[in-house]
Amino acid sequence: METREVRLEDGDIHILWDDGHRSTYPHRYLRGQCGCAACVDEMSGRRKVGWEDVREDVQALDWMPVGRYAVRFLWSDLHDSGFYPFERLRKLCRCRECLEGEVETG
Ligand SMILES: [Zn+2]
Ligand SMILES: [Zn+2]
Repeated sequence: METREVRLEDGDIHILWDDGHRSTYPHRYLRGQCGCAACVDEMSGRRKVGWEDVREDVQALDWMPVGRYAVRFLWSDLHDSGFYPFERLRKLCRCRECLEGEVETG
């Protein structure tokens, strides 16, 4: 699973996957899914910073690929330490197709 295109737009972050699937993520939602040590407690795995803890108008200002397995975003709250592995990013897709797929596979 790889990204073919990552596009930052005003309302959402758009990702086109190499299998042709398109995902749309609200900026704040994705910011709240950051998996870095500042956002998730490494020992317990408990989330310390979620989407409700970040500014309502937070936005990804920039992004960069991390090897061939992840992307990294620079957020407008200057947070940039989190990697978003493709596999995880794809699971975070909230489109109808993905949500229904989740139900099917349990
Ligand atoms: Zn983080
Ligand atoms: Zn989807």
